[in-house]
Amino acid sequence: MMKAIKGVKDLLPEDTPRWRLIEETARRWALCYGFQEIRVPIFETTTLFARSLGATTDIVEKEMYTFADRDGTSLTLRPEGTAGTVRAFIEHNRAADPRPQKYCYLGPMFRHERPQAGRLRQFHQFGVESFGISDPRADVEVISLLWRLLSDLTLPGLTLDINNLGYAEDRARYAPLLVAFLKGVERRLCGNCLRRIETNPLRVLDCKVPECRLATDAAPRLADSLSSTAREHFDHVLTGLRSVGIPFHLNHRLVRGLDYYCLTAFEVTCSHLGAQNAVGAGGRYDGLVEQLGGTAVPAVGFAVGLERIALMLPQEVPLPTIPRVYVAAFGVQAVDVGFVLLDELRRAGVPADMDFRAASLKAHLRQADRLGVLYTVFLGDDEVAKGSATLRNMQTKEQEGLAFSELSSTLLARLSHRP
Ligand code: ATP
Ligand code: MG
Repeated sequence: MMKAIKGVKDLLPEDTPRWRLIEETARRWALCYGFQEIRVPIFETTTLFARSLGATTDIVEKEMYTFADRDGTSLTLRPEGTAGTVRAFIEHNRAADPRPQKYCYLGPMFRHERPQAGRLRQFHQFGVESFGISDPRADVEVISLLWRLLSDLTLPGLTLDINNLGYAEDRARYAPLLVAFLKGVERRLCGNCLRRIETNPLRVLDCKVPECRLATDAAPRLADSLSSTAREHFDHVLTGLRSVGIPFHLNHRLVRGLDYYCLTAFEVTCSHLGAQNAVGAGGRYDGLVEQLGGTAVPAVGFAVGLERIALMLPQEVPLPTIPRVYVAAFGVQAVDVGFVLLDELRRAGVPADMDFRAASLKAHLRQADRLGVLYTVFLGDDEVAKGSATLRNMQTKEQEGLAFSELSSTLLARLSHRP
């Protein structure tokens, strides 16, 4: 049997209504906050991701799906949405447009990770990017959008953690202090963290291994190395969050995995998700546009994982617009006529379906029940001869004769009076 690739999932018809609800909610809130949809390619040159995410990040070191194009160019399936959006922003010279440049995107991302619940190799993100605004209110705006949309989906047990990562200079000042401390507790750190001391020491603070957390409890704090401008920006973000009533927790251990972040970094977790409890995350990335060849444009954004939202979405989502009419034909000629009537119904906007076999009354009624239709149109060869059909109301069981010519208008009128 052929099987899907490990860590890659099918969404079956019973799953897609739930997904559509999430997608529609996300897009609706984004539009409401002035973000407009952008669609960027699923694959880009490997250089784009290596240069934007940072060479020593988990993603670039071990998670990218990278392959050679026929001419030898190295290409990569996008592991996240910011790099491509920034590339498009620069390529289309959007910095020259005086209108706010606020984008949202939704689509599949690819990372070679160990598959488990809420962690896949092809997964989906919804994200937003706000370009050109250094005002801390832009940070508050994206956090607020994230919080409102997750709350609207009634996700249970949400927590917003936030931290100030300062500027690159602040972190450069802090790193040697941290490295000196980490070298003193080396024996107690996991293998990953040992490696990170050299490559990306701040990430050690973010390690989920309990022993690593204990070992770094007394580590020097980045907050104590921050410049006054970095502090001021962050204070304004916190004030803004309070003013619009968004609850947050200061978390000095929160370090984003991607190198391009500065100042505000945040993450939303859900207590009902087990080990993979991060729903979404983001932050400010003022240096990235310039780093990728554009002008210096400040930016802030977030991305949420749709699989994790789908796992937590509490309510059952009903199937939308299922066929409401079933055409049941008896006899070969009736099936032919029924097929034409079926097409007329659909063209008139009546959701309808048909079993193309000339089945028995019992078999047709069983199928109509399975489909949960409101009406069944019965069609036998003698009815075909008269140019009429029998319409059965499946709830009241009442039946009536109707000329073919009246069928679609009658059904359309009756269905439009129903919810
Ligand atoms: P994690 O710490 O869970 O690996 P991350 O820091 O790698 O998350 P981001 O790159 O910030 O995650 O992506 C934002 C969101 O995308 C995450 O909070 C999560 O909901 C989702 N996400 C990330 N990787 C995966 C994956 N492999 N499968 C499903 N969802 C994912
Ligand atoms: Mg990850």
